[in-house]
Amino acid sequence: MELRPLGKTGIVVSRLGYGASPLGGEFGVIDEDEGIRSVHRAIDLGIRLFDVAPYYGRTRAETVLGRALAGRRDEVVLCSKVGRYGKDDFDFRPERILPGLEESLERLGTDHLDLVIVHDIEFRPLAPILEATIPALVRAREQGKVRAIGVSGLPLGVLERAVDGAELDFVLSYCRYTLQDRSLTDSLMPKVRRKGMGLLNAAPLAMGLLTQFDPPPWHPAPLAVVHACKAAARHCAERGADLADVALAFALANSEIDSTIVGMPTIAQVERNLKACLTPADPVLVAEIEEILAPVRGVSWPSGLPENQD
Ligand code: NAD
Repeated sequence: MELRPLGKTGIVVSRLGYGASPLGGEFGVIDEDEGIRSVHRAIDLGIRLFDVAPYYGRTRAETVLGRALAGRRDEVVLCSKVGRYGKDDFDFRPERILPGLEESLERLGTDHLDLVIVHDIEFRPLAPILEATIPALVRAREQGKVRAIGVSGLPLGVLERAVDGAELDFVLSYCRYTLQDRSLTDSLMPKVRRKGMGLLNAAPLAMGLLTQFDPPPWHPAPLAVVHACKAAARHCAERGADLADVALAFALANSEIDSTIVGMPTIAQVERNLKACLTPADPVLVAEIEEILAPVRGVSWPSGLPENQD
């Protein structure tokens, strides 16, 4: 597994990262023991970055990941988040996130996070996040509780404003560098690279849309996007291919991205995704899929406050 420096943090991440939201049951019923085995298999195969959040399964994902990492914490770069605690439960105030961070550390069985993310910043006004949330995390970094600080969200404009307004170490963007949406490359990616910050691309399968299977019922994509992705999956099946393999190989080929984070709660998916990581996508098939997805290319969905939709 190729390792890469995460911006100027001094932290090294694997090109393929493990997303732990499915361990919280976010994508349907989860077999916790199999989830734990998938974490062990991922570590054994060289995956170093593990991303989780208190929001995933409302703390369940952190608890399961903590169990999986018992005795293996030092082998991984561990990332969790602050500020989002339920679908509509956001609280970015220092008096909430600092105790929240301690609770995450306890669930994860560790005394520090390598990476901490202010989770889905588009859901609250940005100014207090810049003026209070991030400075509180800088103090946590000085105390050795976290090593690097980032933000995440879906709309790219608010992520850019955060990059301009705070001394961040890295950014996590999701569903914005996939076969269906490449808007991450428009201006956030060049800005992040210019500043020497780290860049994480999460959900390269568009949260399950770019697979042979049905997406979860909560998926926020417009129906036109869902239908186009289904057509792409059917096309892959006719060609004897698997859309997830192509989607992952496509995302992993971008060398401007430090790590691509995929949810993969079974050993079979870890092994399959690692293989996709080592096998370049067939350019002819990619071109055919791009043609099928062209009518919905870059089509996203609203997320967060009206002022943060850009
Ligand atoms: P994803 O695009 O990684 O898709 C995950 C889904 O695809 C799961 O159902 C998984 O079981 C399935 N899958 C994985 N490999 C497969 C394969 N080879 N074939 C078929 N199906 C396969 O979506 P995600 O899990 O939401 O995103 C990855 C991670 O990124 C998350 O777990 C989370 O850690 C992080 N993330 C963060 C944010 C944020 O900070 N706001 C948002 C989204 C994701």
